[in-house]
Amino acid sequence: MSQLTSRRAFLSAKVRGEDLSIIRPPGSVVPGFVDLCTKCGDCAKACPEDVIVIGADGFPVLYSDNGPCTFCGECAQSCPTEALELERLSNWPWRASLSAASCLSMNGVSCRVCQDNCEHNAISFRLQQGGRAEPSLDTDTCTGCGACVALCPVDAVTLERQTKPLTEANT
Ligand code: SF4
Ligand code: SF4
Ligand code: SF4
Repeated sequence: MSQLTSRRAFLSAKVRGEDLSIIRPPGSVVPGFVDLCTKCGDCAKACPEDVIVIGADGFPVLYSDNGPCTFCGECAQSCPTEALELERLSNWPWRASLSAASCLSMNGVSCRVCQDNCEHNAISFRLQQGGRAEPSLDTDTCTGCGACVALCPVDAVTLERQTKPLTEANT
């Protein structure tokens, strides 16, 4: 399934003041995270990939610019409350979203960094006129690991929360 959206098109949905566009660590309870998290920071310390950082509000966030999440579950295991739970790790709702407007390939510059670094082959390119190539993302294959987000040289890839049910292939 092709999914091209505008750059940094975060969802603005808020539930009881909780901003659902913020990417909480894998296994998080959403909504309700801010009620359960004590801001102890144990999840950030436990992450071997250093992809959990403490946000401006004091709560942990997944920061894909630091690299991909391996879904190892160390963060959820370290959490002393029910804010993060291992059982929810497979319900990760975030998937990559590609901005055609920002993508180098769509602007006639040869680049396949995201495709080359996607272990799940979720990204493909369709040749266009004028030496351009349009990126396409298969959300049924994407795991939302964030490797492409971290590596895109022009920040044309973001993670976006999915609202439709995910398939067994990526849960
Ligand atoms: S699942 Fe593992 S790699 Fe991913 S954020 Fe948690 S500790 Fe880090
Ligand atoms: S380990 Fe749990 S309670 Fe502590 S900051 Fe992380 S999510 Fe919040
Ligand atoms: S988030 Fe991971 S699985 Fe999804 S397209 Fe990017 S690199 Fe591939």
